[in-house]
Amino acid sequence: ESFDDMGLKENILHGIVSYGFEYPSKIQQKAIVPIVKGRDVIAQAQSGTGKTATFAIGTLERIDPKLNKTQALILSPTRELAKQTMDVVENLGEFLGIKVHCCIGGVPIEVDMKKLREGVHIVVGTPGRVIHMMEEHVLKTKDIKTFVLDEADEMLSRGFKEKIYEIFQILESEVQVVLSSATMPSGVHKVTSKFMRDPIKILV
Ligand code: AMP
Repeated sequence: ESFDDMGLKENILHGIVSYGFEYPSKIQQKAIVPIVKGRDVIAQAQSGTGKTATFAIGTLERIDPKLNKTQALILSPTRELAKQTMDVVENLGEFLGIKVHCCIGGVPIEVDMKKLREGVHIVVGTPGRVIHMMEEHVLKTKDIKTFVLDEADEMLSRGFKEKIYEIFQILESEVQVVLSSATMPSGVHKVTSKFMRDPIKILV
C-alpha cells in the first residue's frame, strides 16, 4: 500500500512528499488508516520504525484547521523527544494551516500561556507542564479528540504513572487513545486495559 491509497487529504500527501517520504513503513501501512478512522491503537514499535510519522499523519488528518481549539495532545517522556515530535508534526502538516505548540518544562510559563490563549490545534508536551497548563485552564481539553501517549514504557519508567492517570482523568472520556511502546510491561498493559476501548494492536 502507498500513502496515496490511504485516503489522506491532498495537503497532507503534499507534506509527506516534501518531507521526503516515498513509501510508508510497515507500521505506517498498518496504523495510519485506523488512527484516521478514530480507532484506539496500540503500536508496539521501537524508535526507527517510523512510529512518529504514523501518529503525526493520523493526528493531522483528524484536525479541523478552521476550529481554533486544541484538538490533539501528544505526550512524550522527555523534552527532547517532544521537540523532535513537534518538528515532525509541523513539517508533515506544513500545507495544512495547523498550529502546533510544544509544552515542556524549562520554557517560561508565560510563553506557553500566551500561545495557548491564542489557540493551537495540536499540543506536544511532557507530563508535568501539560498538567500545569490544564490546571491553569489555558490548555482546554473539551475539544481534544485524540490523545497520543508516545513511548509509554519510557513514560512509566520515568515515574510519570500518576501524571498520566491524572491526564486521562481530565480528558473527555470518549477521547481516542493512540499508544506507542517498545515493550509491554504490566504497567503499560494496565494503562491500555484501563483507558483504551477495543484497541487495535499492531506489532512491528
Ligand atoms: P521514528 O521511528 O519515528 O523515530 O522514525 C525513524 C526515522 O525514519 C526518522 O528519521 C524518519 O524521518 C524516518 N522515516 C519515517 N517514516 C519514513 C518513510 N515512510 N520513509 C522514509 N523515512 C521515514
